[in-house]
Amino acid sequence: MDKTSLLLAVRQQGLCFLCKQALIVGGECQPDSPREWIDWFAALKKMLRKRHFTYRRDGGTDERTSLRLVRSECHRQHHAGDSRRAT
Ligand SMILES: [Zn+2]
Repeated sequence: MDKTSLLLAVRQQGLCFLCKQALIVGGECQPDSPREWIDWFAALKKMLRKRHFTYRRDGGTDERTSLRLVRSECHRQHHAGDSRRAT
C-alpha cells in the first residue's frame, strides 16, 4: 500500500476517475479514518490501476499529467476506446 494511492483514493472519495462509480464493488460504505482507509484499500488494490492522464492544450506544448485511480476494468476499456488518439 503506497501513500500516493491512498491519497488518491481519498481525494477521489473512493470513486473511479473514469466512470465515477465506486472503485470497489460494494465499497459504498467508505471508511472514515485513515487506518480504515488503508485496510479497505489494501484489500482491494488488485482491482485498481494508477494511471497518468495527460491534458494537452490545443495546439500547444503545454502538458500536465495527473495521476488518477481507475478500476482495472475501466482502464482496459479506456485504452480500447482511445486507441485512435495518439498518446
Ligand atoms: Zn470506472
